[in-house]
Amino acid sequence: MQTPMSPAILQSFLKADLAELSGKLYQFAADLYPICRSITGNGIRQTLKEIQKRIPLEIHEVPSGTDVFDWTIPKEWNVRDAYIKDSTGKRIVDFQANSLHLESYSVPVQKTLSLAELQPHLHSIPDRSDWIPYRTTYYKDDWGFCLSHNQRKALPDSQYEVCIDSTLIDGHLTYGECYLAGSCEDEVLISVHVCHPSLANDNLSGLTVAAALAELANQSDRRYSYRFLFIPGTIGAISWLAINRDRTSKIHNGLVLTCVGDRGGFHYKKSRQGDANIDRAMAHVLRHCGESSEVLDFSPYGYDERQYCSPGFNLPIGCLMRSVWGTFPEYHTSADNLDFIDPDQLVRSLRLCIQAFDVIERNQTYVNRYPYCEPQLGKRNLYRSSGGEAIDEQIHARLWVLNLCDGRHSLLEIAERSGLPFSTLRTAADMLEAAGLLQALPAKDSGDHRKGSI
Ligand code: ZN
Repeated sequence: MQTPMSPAILQSFLKADLAELSGKLYQFAADLYPICRSITGNGIRQTLKEIQKRIPLEIHEVPSGTDVFDWTIPKEWNVRDAYIKDSTGKRIVDFQANSLHLESYSVPVQKTLSLAELQPHLHSIPDRSDWIPYRTTYYKDDWGFCLSHNQRKALPDSQYEVCIDSTLIDGHLTYGECYLAGSCEDEVLISVHVCHPSLANDNLSGLTVAAALAELANQSDRRYSYRFLFIPGTIGAISWLAINRDRTSKIHNGLVLTCVGDRGGFHYKKSRQGDANIDRAMAHVLRHCGESSEVLDFSPYGYDERQYCSPGFNLPIGCLMRSVWGTFPEYHTSADNLDFIDPDQLVRSLRLCIQAFDVIERNQTYVNRYPYCEPQLGKRNLYRSSGGEAIDEQIHARLWVLNLCDGRHSLLEIAERSGLPFSTLRTAADMLEAAGLLQALPAKDSGDHRKGSI
């Protein structure tokens, strides 16, 4: 049977032992969980080095002070230690115990303060009194500690020694990039943020699934080229776009992956274009995935789709999430921990991405070579074996394919119209093509993906 495009990424996934794979995904997230990541610094480098053990990842360093569009690469932040000690010298808030305790980008501090002086530098969540919040002060020189509200309320009116042994100096912004060439130069871009400290769903789930996708894609035949970006949120995406502005016309599909490990159903936020191939492929695989799902329209807030879909770029890049950021109480708190993500959910998110890429890889437009009435399928052994037997889904698929393959409808469009799974239609098309009833047209989606005016 002629198969003009390889289904190999999906095949590589289907060959894997799912229990083993889900355990591996979860373990990778667990290994990276304690690292104190931020938008710059050694935490992100250490994280990228772990990813580099699995996939061919290039690590890029952009110097502080570099202008990237309307932004400037900030100073590099690193922290060796940070704590608050009570009057007996006991560490009562300790960065070593949980990286969330220190407000990210806190400037160095070494002083003794009264409780009243300390209070403006403390962050807690009154209605989630056991949880530690996640706070940052990226673009303002400040410092702070995060702690549970219960602990904060119990602090006696006393003197406190505060130490933040951090550095905030000219250095670099670091990001990782893995490019896997396919048989054509048209690209699929997968982007994940890797700049949050000990937060599992928001950052580790996306990077874990993206690294596994890259590992599988690296072992497989590919029509598209795949580019994986492991970057600090916002400033990392802006930096990559500024450095690679001329390359973006090659990006034909893309996904921002985040919050894909929790127990919620899927949410796919469409690209700004709204009807890009990735939008249609994702809507299709979600319809057939057997889990609750919702397709959301584009909005100019969220993750790095904000940058990829800014009007000057308008790239066909959507965002896949399970629970939507900001809508679950655990978001940006210590409750977004390893208990909040689930190995099976990670592997199901991985499977969904692979199914969507399989649609993109194997979508094809054909012409029916026998368009005047139906060709006789029975004499080619492509119809039910005896009269009266129920017509199964595969025969339905052959009839849909024959009817709509007029050179103007791709298999994905036929899948949308018929309600049948893409894979069933692709099998039907392969059989009909092998029987000489269909002729494949050259792939039509090469060329500039961008449409409309900005
Ligand atoms: Zn976040």
